[in-house]
Amino acid sequence: MNAERNFDLIFNKNEAVFSRNDFIKKFEKQNIEVWLKREDLLHAEVSGNKFRKLKYNVLKAKALQKSQILTFGGAFSNHIAATAAAGRIHNIPTIGVIRGEELKKDLQKTLKSNPTLKFASENGMQFHFISREDFRRKNDSDFVESLHHEFGDFYLIPEGGTNELAIRGCEEILSESDKEFDVICVASGTGGTASGLINASAENQKVLAFSALKGEFLKEEISHFSNKKNWTLVSDEHFGGYAKINEELVSFINDFKTEFGIQLDPIYTGKMMFGIFDLIEKNHFPENSRILAIHTGGLQGIAGMNRYLEKKKMSLIIE
Ligand SMILES: *Cc1c(COP(=O)(O)O)cnc(C)c1O
Repeated sequence: MNAERNFDLIFNKNEAVFSRNDFIKKFEKQNIEVWLKREDLLHAEVSGNKFRKLKYNVLKAKALQKSQILTFGGAFSNHIAATAAAGRIHNIPTIGVIRGEELKKDLQKTLKSNPTLKFASENGMQFHFISREDFRRKNDSDFVESLHHEFGDFYLIPEGGTNELAIRGCEEILSESDKEFDVICVASGTGGTASGLINASAENQKVLAFSALKGEFLKEEISHFSNKKNWTLVSDEHFGGYAKINEELVSFINDFKTEFGIQLDPIYTGKMMFGIFDLIEKNHFPENSRILAIHTGGLQGIAGMNRYLEKKKMSLIIE
């Protein structure tokens, strides 16, 4: 997994690249093994599943000779950070339409207090801050039309990066040898990554999508993009909702790092891993199951979360 080689493979060629699987732990009681697919190591700046989701979109934008890429995201979005880096690497200017009009009032202050936007800005991303109300209209054609009016021609990537090409990229996460696993686990935001994994999974495998958000709407999203039924949405391991955090989650992430030497993020992979261990404790999985969890990356979000934890006088995530 050489970053330079991956850069070339991911953004310039129609070739798949595979990450390694690390053994994490054997639960002796049920004879269950947990392994972790290290997608977080694919690329230093275009991390984890965002690398998969951007690959064919960047190739398409280049093939169409688009002069810029426009996408949407929250102020701490992994997708925004990854898109900015991919744009810099490819010399394609990027525009980030960011939720939160108030952030533009004092941009220097915003960049100082927000490591994600600072990183994106340093990678040349131009920001367009909009209200939460407008942000909800991000998929409306008249709203997109108004963006074209303002910015001219661009290649559009939806919020979170999920579209047909993103799912095609995520289908490349699993390799042939991963067929030996019984269960594949992944954290889900838009469900795009889970859909790619489901499409690439074998009939006898089961995909568990751990929702990072409250609610069941992901079921519909995943059904829309995937072509099989061998999956389940786990919708009660999100710690109260998107980006919600407590001391238990922070200490789980820190203990996991101490024990296994692997960093998890607080929004997605930390909650998924906590959920997997929790379900094993509750005897959810059959004996002798072999579980492959996907480390989808997202570590850039830790710095921003730590600023929040600091303000709340809570324990920090050890980086
Ligand atoms: C974006 C992201 C996800 C969610 O991916 P979806 O395809 O939107 O479900 C999971 N993990 C990490 C680390 C992410 O950054």
